[in-house]
Amino acid sequence: MCAKEHREESGPSKEDSSISRSESASAPTPDITHTLFQISTSGALVAGLYNGVVSTRVVLAHGDFGLGTFAGLDGEMVVLDGRAYRVRGDGAVSEVAVDAEVPFAVVTRFDADIDEEIRDVSNLGEFEKKCDVLRVSSNIFYALRIDGTFSRIRTRAVSPPPKNGRLIDAAKVQAEFEFNDIAGTLVGIWSPGFSSAFSVPGYHFHFVSDSRTHGGHLLACSSEILRVRAERLTDFHLVLPTSESYLKADLSKNSADELAYAEQSH
Ligand SMILES: [Zn+2]
Repeated sequence: MCAKEHREESGPSKEDSSISRSESASAPTPDITHTLFQISTSGALVAGLYNGVVSTRVVLAHGDFGLGTFAGLDGEMVVLDGRAYRVRGDGAVSEVAVDAEVPFAVVTRFDADIDEEIRDVSNLGEFEKKCDVLRVSSNIFYALRIDGTFSRIRTRAVSPPPKNGRLIDAAKVQAEFEFNDIAGTLVGIWSPGFSSAFSVPGYHFHFVSDSRTHGGHLLACSSEILRVRAERLTDFHLVLPTSESYLKADLSKNSADELAYAEQSH
């Protein structure tokens, strides 16, 4: 690698320049303009740190697309086309005031470099496999925007847990919703397995209907045809809380099992 770079710098011959062109096509410089901006960590959430870290205004200043939750785990956040929505535990969807506090979020300025259709999705596993085909790598992050009509979609929305309760307690009582023949958008982030120490590994989708009246964290879906747009994200910006409770928390435990439980249907 170093030797090749040196050769390019030292003035390639005509033949060499065609080689270096093809090399640069297969190994482009990482793009630091496609940034995933994350507030706090999944481990902090699992450990019960759901006080607000930043306002929704700050989240929207760093991305127009993404997902998260609100202070006290008061609903699922969906950020789409520069607007932030909250899906509460009772299923109600509302646009969020910019001063609403956010303990955890991942957002980006969505700029798709992949635009494809997927067909005949009969369950979540199939849906994720079809999305897998569009990803060239499992070692970078992706933002995925999926638009279409879902013949069936199941979501859940978190409610604030009992006082001093944990994410896992909130997950036990979370409400689930099922919708049929509903047009809407899935806002998704795919994160590499190695990010499980601070993020949600694999796919994480939040749904909002075109009518902006239904939504939630995706649990199941089926559809005949969907438009999938995806963006490769090779730049990661992590903002850590500075609250006393965060600074003093024991985050040394592996939170992956509790997080996986909280993310799934039960
Ligand atoms: Zn979620």
